[in-house]
Amino acid sequence: MKPIEPLAFFDDSAHARWRSDFPILEERVHGKPLVYLDNGATTQKPASVIEAERAYYLHSNANVHRGVHELSQRATDAYEGARARIARFVNAARTEEIVFVRGTTEAINLVAQSAVRPRLQPGDEILVSAMEHHSNIVPWQLVCAQTGAQLKVVPIDDSGTLDMAVCERMLGERTRLAAFAHVSNALGTINPVKQLIELAHRRGVPVLIDGAQAIAHLRVDMQALDCDFYAFSGHKVYGPTGIGVLYAKARHLEAMPPWQGGGDMIRSVTFEQTEYNAIPWKFEAGTPNIAGAIGLAAALDYVDAIGIDAIGAHEAALLAHATQAIGALPHIRLIGTAREKAGVLSFVHEEVHAHDVGTILDHEGVAVRAGHHCAMPVMQRFGVPATVRASFGLYNTRADVDALLRGLSKVQEVFGR
Ligand code: PLP
Repeated sequence: MKPIEPLAFFDDSAHARWRSDFPILEERVHGKPLVYLDNGATTQKPASVIEAERAYYLHSNANVHRGVHELSQRATDAYEGARARIARFVNAARTEEIVFVRGTTEAINLVAQSAVRPRLQPGDEILVSAMEHHSNIVPWQLVCAQTGAQLKVVPIDDSGTLDMAVCERMLGERTRLAAFAHVSNALGTINPVKQLIELAHRRGVPVLIDGAQAIAHLRVDMQALDCDFYAFSGHKVYGPTGIGVLYAKARHLEAMPPWQGGGDMIRSVTFEQTEYNAIPWKFEAGTPNIAGAIGLAAALDYVDAIGIDAIGAHEAALLAHATQAIGALPHIRLIGTAREKAGVLSFVHEEVHAHDVGTILDHEGVAVRAGHHCAMPVMQRFGVPATVRASFGLYNTRADVDALLRGLSKVQEVFGR
């Protein structure tokens, strides 16, 4: 764990300004000011994102790619402009490498069914890690059941760090894809994705990175990473729900068959034969989430205006402070103590169930996640049914961590432990 660096915190005036950009942070819950520490589940939205969606519905709402009329043109320009904005944010080589989907889950299912399934033979292997979210496990289990391929799991150690030596050995002749989280939602571990991609590529294995928990915290650069597929959700990066992104190298998208059929993904249709649209539209059947894409672009504008590196540094300082303070409490055990972590602090109270801890914290106005975090194999690995997870966003403060600490002393009061 890195030492606490107080200077890495946003200074108070800047921070107060950023907090005030998020109207929901003014809410009170159970009569207490809201302390929102469930950013791993979803982030709150700045007024600029809410306003971008509102402005779209007020001034530009129409279907995209279809009308000759002015509103349809505006909607199409805004939707395609959002795609270009996202391509810039992740430094994709080409805008067509950005496919709009519902979120990380849909992006991974798309890759599983369209890119991977047609290439799988019985006995082939898909490699994942032991720290994956269900969204990066179940789509591969489905595709394995459909083809006779096998899911292989790279183990993690007691700190929640991937075993790279074992990983290297497991990347074998039968491996057809490796799929790893960039950041673990349950443990906070930052995986060495560049190194993983290099390892896999040396063996000719393409790589999918689940970026759901990375996109709001770390700089992600598709060209520098050289990954084949990268998935993320808008709602975890201060954008709307129901919109997400699959980045894929253009040559992969060109080679992949469509996943869903319908309007917009075709060039021409007859009953005898259908010609598909160019990428990325080949993968966007039906009316897309236009407002969501526009909202996501506004969210990325917002993040860029602050700077992802400044956000990451602020959250790292918060995490260091919280880790030290909470780790020192009696009966508390931290789950996930890797050297490289993003702003996620998972812990268990040795004598009180995570759900009870979460309920007491809620009554103190502190929103955390308590449960298995859609990562049941991680819970099994650490021998716990559930953890309490505090996860940080750019608007969180030391005062929020202190509120969490006060809430945890309430747990001690209530349970006498
Ligand atoms: N992958 C990780 C690491 C996640 O944390 C999540 C959501 O928590 C997902 C995938 C799924 O994201 P979504 O539900 O937005 O599709």
